[in-house]
Amino acid sequence: MIETYAIRRPEAQESPIARQIREDLGIDVARCLECGKCTGGCSYAAGFDYTPRKIIQLVKLGEFDKLLSLDALWTCLSCQLCVDRCPSGINIPRIMDYLRARAHRANSNITHKNIEKFYEIMLSDIKNRGRISETIMMIKYNLAIKNLFANASFGKKLFLKGKLKFFSPRTHNIKTIQPLFRRLSEKDGQA
Ligand code: SF4
Ligand code: SF4
Repeated sequence: MIETYAIRRPEAQESPIARQIREDLGIDVARCLECGKCTGGCSYAAGFDYTPRKIIQLVKLGEFDKLLSLDALWTCLSCQLCVDRCPSGINIPRIMDYLRARAHRANSNITHKNIEKFYEIMLSDIKNRGRISETIMMIKYNLAIKNLFANASFGKKLFLKGKLKFFSPRTHNIKTIQPLFRRLSEKDGQA
């Protein structure tokens, strides 16, 4: 993070969601310079309803309901390009993760229910096995969305090229994973 460019604003101007993000993630959106480098480098800004720069502005303004209903929460690729470009080191995909989890818990107006389902299945596999088995996860996903052959031709190509294994073994030390989920559940209880 480049300290030189930090902008400090009085605590009184900090919105409740900006404060929660600072306290929970250690990310201070008051450092945002509104330069737009994140949007300029974003892999998928053209498909977002709000660009990354505007999303940070919504956090500053405390537009919590708006943030939870953003389409972009579910289409961000977590590619980290915006983080690389930000002169203030603001980790936008981490904020997206945080808001996505809040939207899921609040059962807010989620525009991509299938993507939400995908996250649910993936996290449940990681919780139970420590890692995902792509093939089994995709079968579970296809069952959940009631489309048994979704992505089947793509999956077959990967399988034939040896890029997709039918089964991945469980992580050896699953005990190191489960406390992380327990801590998250405790946090959920507090939210
Ligand atoms: S992580 Fe998301 S917001 Fe950042 S550049 Fe990638 S797609 Fe855009
Ligand atoms: S690149 Fe960083 S400082 Fe610039 S607008 Fe985006 S979040 Fe703000």
